[in-house]
Formats: sequence, C-alpha cells, structure tokens
Amino acid sequence: MQLPLGPDPRTETLRRLQPLLVQRFGRIERAAAKWRRPEWVLVQGLIGARTKSPISNAATDRLLARYRTWEAVAEAPLDELRELLTTQTYPNVAAERLKRALQAVVAERGAFDLGHLEPLDTTEALAWLETLPGVGRKIAAGVVNASSLDRKALVLDGHHIRILQRMGLVPPKADTARAYAAIMPAMPPEWSAADYDEHHLLMKKVGQNTCRPSHMDCPACPAQALCRTGQARHEAAEPSA
Ligand code: SF4
Repeated sequence: MQLPLGPDPRTETLRRLQPLLVQRFGRIERAAAKWRRPEWVLVQGLIGARTKSPISNAATDRLLARYRTWEAVAEAPLDELRELLTTQTYPNVAAERLKRALQAVVAERGAFDLGHLEPLDTTEALAWLETLPGVGRKIAAGVVNASSLDRKALVLDGHHIRILQRMGLVPPKADTARAYAAIMPAMPPEWSAADYDEHHLLMKKVGQNTCRPSHMDCPACPAQALCRTGQARHEAAEPSA
C-alpha cells in the first residue's frame, strides 16, 4: 500500500468519518468505572470471543460475584468455570483461556493485579500483555485503551479490520497486528483515548449493520463517501451517459 509523501490523507478521512458515524449511530458513552479496571477488562476480553459485549460483561460480573477475587477464579475447577460461562459463544475455550491467563499473571505477579502496567509506555504494556496465553493484539489493546489506563491504542476486531480494508485504509489482507501497525500512524493526533474507544465501537456498528462480512449495503452506509469500495461500487452502478 503506497502512501504519498506529506500528511497522511487517511488522517483526514478518519476525521471526516467520525461525525458521520456519530450522526448515524449516536454517541457512545464510556463504561462505568467498575467496568474499567484493567483486570476486569482483561477477563472480559479473554472470555468474550464472538460474544456480544453485554453478555460478556454480565459473565465477567458473575465470575467475580461467585468467587470474590480473581485469584480464586484462577484456582476454580475448569468444570465450574465452564458452567458459569455457558452464556459465552465458546464456553470451553473461554474457561480454559481464562484460567491459563489468570494463573500466568498470578505466577508472575503474585496476584491478579495489573498495576505494574501503569508506568509502562503503551508499546511496553501491549508487549507484556501479549506474553499471556490467549492474549493477542485485540485483547491487549482493549486492556490499555478501554480501561482506566486510558491509552491511545486502537482496538481492532474482525468488523473493524474488514471495514478498514474495504475503505482502503489498511492493506487488503492485513491481520490484526499488521492492520494495527498500518492504521495507528494515521489516527488523528488530537483524538483522546476515549475518542479511540468510541471510534472502535462505532466502526463495530458499521460492521454489524451495513458492512457485513458477506453483504455490503454501501448506499445505506455512513462511510460510503469516504470508502474506496463504496465509491467504486457506486460508480459501477451508475448508468453510463
Ligand atoms: S461503503 Fe460499503 S464497503 Fe465501504 S464501509 Fe460501507 S458498506 Fe463497507
């Protein structure tokens, strides 16, 4: 993907895109403080594969209510964890991944406490999180961005990456790490960590509504005027003079 010299034009595209997304889907408020502890966000990410956020939020709260501490969750029998996670799309994977990651943090830190991430810079915090079993860039970026750590790190799930690819903002076959490396330099510098969070959640809505994996409803999409694929499809559909 060749970029012209000078200011990255993708930055202006993202600036123009955000109000269009807000206009379509409305503002998205950040989660309450009790849902923004880094430990809570990590657990929610570990159990949340292909599960809607409100369901994973409730399951995360249920785990803590049942065992009182995350260290106790780490020690809980797998069968019990699977039982408690039946609301998740993949309860077995969620239980196993959760237990392994919790135990890894407890083994290294002596408790399930991520306070040591606070003084690290964002790259270091992401790198440490990604050493944990089951934690890739999506979950790690979620922990540093959506939690009280409040860092500028863009969360990229399947919806978000697909849209960026179709819009021509990241290379067509980029995986999460490559898409992250490609889009982060283009993020508007004036955006706060909260803006990153809201942008991701709005892009997810585009992916759930108009830019679905197998169907693109470009004429109804708020991104169409800024989207390479949307524009190409619009031009192809126009009757020739
Ligand atoms: S305009 Fe079409 S391809 Fe582009 S983001 Fe919207 S639905 Fe996807």
